[in-house]
Amino acid sequence: MSEKLGTMLYLNGVSVSFDGFKALNHLSIIVHPAEMLAIIGPNGAGKTTMMDIITGKTRPDDGEVYFDGRTDLTKLDEAQIANLGIGRKFQKPTVFESHTVWDNLELALRKPRGVFSALTYMAANDDVARIEQILETIRLFGRKGDLAAGLSHGQKQWLEIGMLLAQDPKLLLVDEPVAGMTDSETVETAKLLKDIARTRSVVVVEHDMSFVRELGTRVTCLAEGTVLAEGSLDQVSRNPQVIERYLGR
Ligand code: ADP
Ligand code: MG
Repeated sequence: MSEKLGTMLYLNGVSVSFDGFKALNHLSIIVHPAEMLAIIGPNGAGKTTMMDIITGKTRPDDGEVYFDGRTDLTKLDEAQIANLGIGRKFQKPTVFESHTVWDNLELALRKPRGVFSALTYMAANDDVARIEQILETIRLFGRKGDLAAGLSHGQKQWLEIGMLLAQDPKLLLVDEPVAGMTDSETVETAKLLKDIARTRSVVVVEHDMSFVRELGTRVTCLAEGTVLAEGSLDQVSRNPQVIERYLGR
């Protein structure tokens, strides 16, 4: 029990099989509060499955999955897990194209997250301050009155991250955020996620090694459903196993 204490995310010996194929095989990962973890690894390594397990979309066959040091996520459904404060960014942005950037954030803010949301409902002035703060974080302050449809692909991704921030998550899961982004959007996305990780835990799955380098954070390389190597990007990318099974391909 003690090793869970003080962690935001705690996976221990997590396994799951699909038709006899072990997608996750004794996977153990820890993320601390206000820490960012980058996850790399070949296609089929189990990175997305790991996120499915954390968010309750997939049930593990075995192992422990704890949030905030004490909440057993394997006992909860997807809605309950989202309500705890775990936000997940999927690859395809799902912003409301015919609404402004501002209205997208306001809608996200008003979407009740938990059973207590009615009691803790913020005053309108607080909403404005929150939205402005999020706009700064996602680099869209100057676009607040524009329709989301007019944003670039990268800006739509940032807006969706903003919509997740409106839900005030303690843990943010982001799967391949920079796919399809321009080089400058990619660099800006790394800065933006680093800003977010000053107060929240962030798990980023990404293939783009220059982006992972920009993140400058702890890296875990998965392969065949388990941890192959952990450490700084330099340490991990020097690992012979990582070179053989991922980077050297
Ligand atoms: P990654 O995101 O690292 O590329 P995934 O987690 O998507 O890998 O996939 C790991 C393996 O598990 C793959 O072989 C994939 O086909 C399989 N898999 C993932 N989810 C399911 C599912 N719901 N049903 C069957 N097989 C799945
Ligand atoms: Mg994936």
